[in-house]
Order: sequence, then structure tokens, then C-alpha cells
Amino acid sequence: MQTKRVLITGGAGFLGSHLCERFLAEGYEVICMDNLITGDLANVEHLFREARFHFEHRDVTEYIHVPGRLDAMLHFASPASPIDYLELPIQTLKVGSLGTHKALGLAHAKNARFLLASTSEVYGDPLVHPQPESYWGNVNPVGPRGVYDEAKRFAEAMTMAYHRFHKVETRIVRIFNTYGPRMRLRDGRALPAFMSQALAGEPITVFGDGSQTRSFTYVDDLVEGIWRLLNSNESNPVNVGNPREMTILQFAEAVRKVTGSTSPIVHKPLPVDDPKIRQPDITRAKALLGWEPKVQLEQGLERTLAYFRGKIAAKGDKPSAPSSRRG
Ligand code: UDP
Repeated sequence: MQTKRVLITGGAGFLGSHLCERFLAEGYEVICMDNLITGDLANVEHLFREARFHFEHRDVTEYIHVPGRLDAMLHFASPASPIDYLELPIQTLKVGSLGTHKALGLAHAKNARFLLASTSEVYGDPLVHPQPESYWGNVNPVGPRGVYDEAKRFAEAMTMAYHRFHKVETRIVRIFNTYGPRMRLRDGRALPAFMSQALAGEPITVFGDGSQTRSFTYVDDLVEGIWRLLNSNESNPVNVGNPREMTILQFAEAVRKVTGSTSPIVHKPLPVDDPKIRQPDITRAKALLGWEPKVQLEQGLERTLAYFRGKIAAKGDKPSAPSSRRG
């Protein structure tokens, strides 16, 4: 049997790098494409010794060409943390819109199955709880998060258009907050912020009163859900996330506990349009994919902590503050 070939855009990012590993383990030849604005070669450098792994330093918003066959494409290129998309608003809009168009064009030309990384952000600040896929969302198009939310909503619409009009086999995963090794130490998201602060003995910054809720998924559970979705026949969006909901204050306390830190919790202003509640309804993923999360929060935090400790030790100092990036 011929080796299957997959293209993973954003393959050097947090989620993309775990997907590269999974597809190599499944016997695929993997083409990892990344412009390295928020991705990092360090996430995939251990894969370079594998003959079935290839890296392409390319911006997916420009014309992309890949020689040879492609059986599947996973479109994961995008800034994905609120700080990143505040710093990179135009790039975020471009990769979700132009980048998704280019990627779908390639999937169409190659007759490849296409999976879009969408997000719980399409539900905005939700008025329905928990969020089923049938909920259309409550998004502010002109707020600071609009660049991400609307780009991903456009990307979903574009994906469905290629499915309906060009008959491309498409899949849409709506990813809820996911954490694990290879998150950037200080990318502004809750877990890297809390863990880096706890390890550095700095105050843990909870935004607002911390009563807003999130539901955190460990990366291995997410990757399993994506693998199953790609191999399913479902072209409608599917939520993949852990339904265990908690307040951000409870999450900060859980991170502090696992690190053994005595850092105080301090409160900072709540960012504009920060969703008040978020929890996936995973009825569809359970029924269609037989998927549900397996990794408990405490277990996932332990594994992530081991990674953070290793990174900080390798740097030989405290994790640095986020740098300003311009793509
Ligand atoms: N958050 C926080 N302190 C931080 C970073 C994030 O309290 O240093 C909060 C943020 O306001 C939000 C939640 O944690 O309510 C999750 O934020 P994250 O950026 O991880 O993802 P979001 O779900 O908002 O996209």
C-alpha cells in the first residue's frame, strides 16, 4: 500500500506539532508548513530525523504549491491566543480567510480530505449553555476578538462552500480551550500565564473576579478526537472539548496546587468581550466518533508541568515576558 501523505499547516505550532507526531505514528508522510510567526521549529526539531517528515517554511496566505499527491490536509495555521491576535490582527484575519481559501483550493486540486481547525470562539460570549454545534453564537465583529472569531466563522463558511460546491470532503473541528506541552511559556493564555507565574514565584494574574468559566482539554484527547473526525464521514462541525467546566479562579488554584507554589492570586481587569461561560456539548462527538476525553485535569497539569520545568531549566533563567512580534 502507498504511504499516505498529509499536509499540516501551522504544523510547528502547539497543536500542529502534536498532529505531526500522530500522523507519523499512523504511518503517514507528513509535510509540516509554517511561517513561524507564532510557531516554533523547536516543537518539531525531533521529527527532522524521520525520513517521512518534511518542513516547508511558507506563508499559507500566499499561493501554496506542494508537489505530488496529498491524501489529507489539516489547516491549523493561525495565531490562537488572545494576546497573539491583538498583536497580529491583520495576519489573523488573513490566515483565516485568504489562508483557508488557498488551503481549500489545494485540497480541491489534490482531491485531498480537508480538516479545518475551528474554535469555540465561533460561539462568542454564548447565550446558550453548554454550547451545541447547532448554536449560532453571539460574536462582536468589531471588538478586539472579532479578528479571530470572524476569521474562523468565515473559514467555516468557506469550508462548507467547497464541500457543497466543489464536493471536497471536508471536516470542521470546533476546538475548546486546550493545554499541554509545547504551549509557549508566556503566550498570554490562562495556562501558560498561571504556570509560568507560579514557577517563577510571581503573582498569578486572574482577570476580573475569576468567575468566568472555561473547560480545559488535554492535548492528547484533542488529537484523538481530530484523528477520529478526519476518518469519519461527518462534514458538519463537531465540538471536541472536555465538558468539565470550572471558574478561572478554580483553574488558577489547580495550577498553583500542582506546582506547589505559594504565589498569591491577584486580580487584573477583564479583557474586552472575554466570554463569561464556555462548555462544550459533546453529544455529537460521542455519538459520531465514540469520542470522549480520558485525561483528568490533574494528570494533564502534571504532564504540562514537566514540560514547563524542562523548558525553564533549559533556558537557565525565568521565562521571559512575551515579545512583540510583527509578521
Ligand atoms: N485569564 C486570566 N489570566 C491570565 C490569562 C487569562 O484570568 O493571565 C483568563 C481570561 O480572561 C479568560 C480565561 O482565563 O477568562 C481563558 O483565557 P485564555 O486566554 O486562555 O483563552 P480564551 O478562552 O479567553 O480564549
